[in-house]
Amino acid sequence: MTGTNHALTGALIATAIGNPIVFVPAAIGSHFVLDMLPHFGEKYGQRKKLTKIVWTADAGLLVGGLILLVATQNWLIALGSFAALSPDLAWIFRFVFIEKWGTLPPGNLNRLNSFHANIQKLESREGVFVEVLWLIGAAYLCSQYVL
Ligand SMILES: [Zn+2]
Repeated sequence: MTGTNHALTGALIATAIGNPIVFVPAAIGSHFVLDMLPHFGEKYGQRKKLTKIVWTADAGLLVGGLILLVATQNWLIALGSFAALSPDLAWIFRFVFIEKWGTLPPGNLNRLNSFHANIQKLESREGVFVEVLWLIGAAYLCSQYVL
């Protein structure tokens, strides 16, 4: 799933639970559940223009959401959102520092990253439609219950 969809889901979990001792692990767990659902993704060597569009839109929405959370000082919601997307920080680190912005093939994965990669069996280009539907639904729920 995109970072935005993970973050919105984490915001909803934080709102529903309220207690960070409970919602932080729940939000992290939600990350792996969402990654098991059909979602957008193209593997190294198969990434086309759609990947750039999705990643750019995702980064823009995440920055916009971060600005909104800072402006409204919703720190617990920010924590829930960050917890939910935090497992993907490993991918960002690998992409930037090990794969040199996607110019090098992915190397060996540690056990956690292997697990994280193996659960994403339903990742595909067509998964972009699931991403958009999830984004609309989660953004609507956040507008009703989080902000
Ligand atoms: Zn992930």
